Amino acid sequence: MSLTFTKPSVALGLPRMGAGNERHTDTNAVLSAGVMIAYKARAGYPTPQMKDKINRAAVQARNIVRIANDALARVVMLRGAESVLFTATMARHYSLTAGNLGGTLAVPFLKDNIVDKPFSLKALTDIDRRWVLNRIREDMLSISFHLNTGVYLIDIDDGVRDVDNGQRKPLNQIDNDGTVGYVQRRTHTAASSICGFRNGEIHISFAEFLDYSLNSCACTIIHEACHKYLSFRGDVYGFYANYPPPLTDPRSSPAGTASSLRNCDSLAWTAVSLATGAVRMDNNDSDDDEQCPGNAI
Ligand SMILES: [Zn+2]
Repeated sequence: MSLTFTKPSVALGLPRMGAGNERHTDTNAVLSAGVMIAYKARAGYPTPQMKDKINRAAVQARNIVRIANDALARVVMLRGAESVLFTATMARHYSLTAGNLGGTLAVPFLKDNIVDKPFSLKALTDIDRRWVLNRIREDMLSISFHLNTGVYLIDIDDGVRDVDNGQRKPLNQIDNDGTVGYVQRRTHTAASSICGFRNGEIHISFAEFLDYSLNSCACTIIHEACHKYLSFRGDVYGFYANYPPPLTDPRSSPAGTASSLRNCDSLAWTAVSLATGAVRMDNNDSDDDEQCPGNAI
């Protein structure tokens, strides 16, 4: 039995953070410590099966990023040797294959890319493999912090939802068919990039979650958390032929340019891979993004 109440923003009539003041969802439920959902209440909805699946997926997502963060810290902070899985994961999801300097031939991104490069004081400031791994670690740590502080998930409610980003719209103008998750992007200014409310909340399809495996649901939550908390715009999905996007310097390439270091699926599948002990992803022409195997961890 979960604690259910009218959404405080609805009860108090508070304005929304984004454009428009219409709301689709009106009810919150706390599913377990640190897991809260929002939905439009009606008889028999959401089902107990939906609540159970969402709760388990949220717990799985925060466990995955916590374990992945530990794996990254072990290599980057404690300078432990990379495991075979670790090296393979970085190659698959970031094109961080040993020797690949990224960038372009004329202007390489990295000074060198050597697995387990021996320690030297001089190399501390190098833009090298360790620099990239540390960047991934910082992003993973941020996601782990946010998800382990609390997971808030709003129902997409495809077919019923008639409000999109605060504006009322006819049902047939909201095309979320098959969309399992999204976050409204609200980054407009440099100042907003330091604000926790810079982007909308994580929306997931309660209905679709029933059809997805536990790890695929967790991967979706982590992917959307990358949009929300890291303002990643990269949506080169694992099942695209050009996945992963190129290994380029995320500091100098324009915000909209594809870079594996700003690609949601790269970080999300890296987290799932490191935490579950095998390189995981959705393959081209496969529905593995919906049925990634694995039990609760
Ligand atoms: Zn996305």
